[in-house]
Amino acid sequence: MRIQSSRLFAFVTLVAMGAPLCAQQQAAAPQGAERQAAPAPAAAKPQDTEVWEPVPNVVAPGANNTAPPSDAIVLLDGKNLDEWVSAQDKAPAKWTVASGVLTVNKAAGNIETKRTFRNYQLHIEWKIPENITGTGQARGNSGVFLASTGPGDAGYELQVLDSYNNKTYVNGQAGSIYKQGIPLVNPSRKPGEWQTYDVLWTAPIFNADGSLKTPAYVTVFFNGVLVQNHFELKGETRYIGQPFYKKYDAAPIKLQAHGDPSEPISFRNIWVRELN
Ligand code: MG
Repeated sequence: MRIQSSRLFAFVTLVAMGAPLCAQQQAAAPQGAERQAAPAPAAAKPQDTEVWEPVPNVVAPGANNTAPPSDAIVLLDGKNLDEWVSAQDKAPAKWTVASGVLTVNKAAGNIETKRTFRNYQLHIEWKIPENITGTGQARGNSGVFLASTGPGDAGYELQVLDSYNNKTYVNGQAGSIYKQGIPLVNPSRKPGEWQTYDVLWTAPIFNADGSLKTPAYVTVFFNGVLVQNHFELKGETRYIGQPFYKKYDAAPIKLQAHGDPSEPISFRNIWVRELN
C-alpha cells in the first residue's frame, strides 16, 4: 500500500521536530495496517537460560598453580626421559636428568615427545644458568617447539633465551614466537631463577590438498604475565626467510639444543592437557 505524499510529508516533519516515537509510528503507519506487538518480555524466566548438561569433568588442581592437575599428561617429572626421544632419529633422548631437573645436552641435538598432540594447554619451567655468558641470541638460547614438524628446528618455536638484560631483536627475545610474534611485555627473571611458560596452542587445520583452512593461534603467559594474546601465526617459524604453513595432523612438542656456546639451560615440571 502506498503512503500518500501528504502523510509522508507529515512523517518527515514530525521526525525533524523530534516528535515522540508514538507520534512517528502513527504518522508512518499505512491506513488499515495493524502493528505486531513483540512477545511480552515478562514471559521470560531465569530458568530459560540455565544449562545443566553436559556437566564439566571434575579435575583436581595441582597443589599449586604449577603442579600438574589430575587430568594432565606429565611429560617430565624430573625422574627420567621416558616421554622423550631424539628429534633427529627417534632414538632415546640423551639429555641429562639429575636432581629433578633436565639439562640440555647441546651435542645430542633437539629432543621431542614420543606422543603427538593437536590442541593443548602446556606448562613448562626453564632456568638460565646463573653463570650464563654470551650476548644476544648466543646467551641461553633454547626453545619450545609447540608442534615439531620435522627434524632440526622445523615447526613452531616459542623462544627461550636470557632476556633479563640482554639486547637482541625483539621478535627473537624470550616469550616471542620466533621472528613472528613480539611479546607484549618482558617479564623475564634473572639468570639462576626458574621461569614459567603456560601456553594455549590451537593447531592449524589443513584441507585435504595441503592448503591452509585455519591458522594456528597461541596464547602465552610468561611468569604468569600475558605475552602472546591469541596470536595468529603466519606459518612455521624460520631462521631465514618468510614463514609458511606445511600440512600436519598431530605433532610432538620439541625442545631445542641451540648451537651457541653459552652454558646449557635446564627444564623441569612439564605437563600438558589435551584439548581436542
Ligand atoms: Mg631458540
